[in-house]
Amino acid sequence: MNRSQQIQQLKTTNHWDIIIIGGGATGLGAAVDAAGRGYKTLLVEQHDFGKGTSSRSTKLIHGGVRYLQQGNFRLVRDALRERGLLLKNAPHIAHRLKLVLPAYRWWEKLYYGLGLKVYNFLSAKLSLGPSEILSIKKTQEYIKGLDGKRLIGGVAYYDGQFDDARLCVSLALTVADVSGTILNYCKVSGLIHDQGKVKGVVIKDCLTNEVYEARGTVIINATGVFVDEVLRMDDDGLTKTVSPSQGIHIVVDKKFFPGDQALFIPRTDDGRVLFAVPFHDKVIIGTTDTSVDTAVIEPLPLEEEVEFVINHFNRYVHTGLQRSDIKSVFAGLRPLVKLPGKKKTALLPRDHTIWVSKGGMINISGGKWTTYRKMAQEVILKAHYEGGLAYTRCQTETMKLHGWMKKVDFEDPLHYYGSDAAAIRYLQHQGYSQLIHPALSYTIAEVAWAVLNEMAMTVEDVLARRTRALFLDAKAAIEAAPLVANIMMKEMNKDEAWKEQQLKDFYKVAEGYLLK
Ligand SMILES: Cc1cc2nc3c(=O)[nH]c(=O)nc-3n(C[C@H](O)[C@H](O)[C@H](O)COP(=O)(O)OP(=O)(O)OC[C@H]3O[C@@H](n4cnc5c(N)ncnc54)[C@H](O)[C@@H]3O)c2cc1C
Repeated sequence: MNRSQQIQQLKTTNHWDIIIIGGGATGLGAAVDAAGRGYKTLLVEQHDFGKGTSSRSTKLIHGGVRYLQQGNFRLVRDALRERGLLLKNAPHIAHRLKLVLPAYRWWEKLYYGLGLKVYNFLSAKLSLGPSEILSIKKTQEYIKGLDGKRLIGGVAYYDGQFDDARLCVSLALTVADVSGTILNYCKVSGLIHDQGKVKGVVIKDCLTNEVYEARGTVIINATGVFVDEVLRMDDDGLTKTVSPSQGIHIVVDKKFFPGDQALFIPRTDDGRVLFAVPFHDKVIIGTTDTSVDTAVIEPLPLEEEVEFVINHFNRYVHTGLQRSDIKSVFAGLRPLVKLPGKKKTALLPRDHTIWVSKGGMINISGGKWTTYRKMAQEVILKAHYEGGLAYTRCQTETMKLHGWMKKVDFEDPLHYYGSDAAAIRYLQHQGYSQLIHPALSYTIAEVAWAVLNEMAMTVEDVLARRTRALFLDAKAAIEAAPLVANIMMKEMNKDEAWKEQQLKDFYKVAEGYLLK
């Protein structure tokens, strides 16, 4: 995937069947679906793929036990089916994860024990394994440091886990594999109207400041929490449709939560769930649900959110976690579709909404990572109807995503690259084996690979989303930045001034991942 080639395709294509705005889970999924059906597809993302909410999730591919409690069986069943399909189509990025739910009252053990049997039943043929009622001893064996005073046992069950930003990269590569055109750092700054109908987009290349016009039969707005900004380009009298809700995670060393399984607390003080999930060589703990007024691309964790997560984790797991142990902290914004008369975003549904605005643009918002494929299938079917495009069948139920491998070795630190890992290993043997930092497991081969094959354009792209360094250990990522910038400068044929600016930009972003 090479950006210059993609720009060339943008310049030389007169008309697209489908133009998608936004390169997060929703837009990338839609682009895979559209290009996979043979539609001439263009996707433009204003920053980097996954820079928005899609790199900041809890990394779970799940039906949502909470939605089961709310009696939303359809949402749970659909999500469990999608969970199963993703684990088959991207086994290098998504895998099975055991979650343990501690019970402190007898009815909890019964309630969740039965509920999780239903959960597994709803996953039908795509079940990841039966749930299990646990004794006190077994629960404590799974969750080391679990406070045993009031514990009466637990329930273990399975869900999926994935690397969200790596899935974005794999989806982007898949779009290119099936002849779609995909561009990062290309912002839609306006819509082209013809007799009141949206017929195209004005695109600003944020790296060169060049401006392009792209015309298409159907335009899809998949911009997450920014959906209203693009909608207003079509309908300036519009009221707010999306209500952002912030969720944060802290990242700590595995010594505070050893083992391969995750912890799931189904009800915290504000009625939310708390997860502790192993991720790469660390553990991520979260999350929160804080209504915010404005959508920003780099949201910052609030002090009270950090305190909330630390306190709640310590209340259940007694491994002495302190604020100074936090390696990284990140925040993301849920694009929740706002319902009139409801203020608390935690009460809003996580299902998605697809609607057509004044000039015929199709808008999609809400949902969750787990259901991105189904959302994509629905929005592209809508595009077929609205645009009068020739009908072709959706391919994605069985489409193997870029990097797919039959047998994945999860012990291999490069397993997230799937079949591309062999080429990276080759680079390592060609003199690119130096670690970017002693505390990070990434080598300079991954940096070069990201530049040459994964459209990484900035130091932040490499350290935050091609590798996950910034999310795993912000201080180490900051210390690794000069080496990464040097390698990138050479591979991209840039000069010292570019490198200095890159470092300045990266440090500014990275500061938000450090706790003061
Ligand atoms: C804290 C948290 C935890 C979560 N955990 C989970 C989980 O464990 N499992 C799960 O299934 N789901 C989870 N979710 C939900 C999931 O992450 C989101 O539903 C999903 O990532 C939303 O993707 P999106 O593409 O709609 O939005 P985004 O990822 O935000 O993508 C929208 C993109 O549009 C781009 N854009 C905006 N304006 C323009 C423009 N004018 N031109 C070009 N591009 C533009 C933005 O830069 C952005 O990259 C979580 C969400 C949060 C916040």
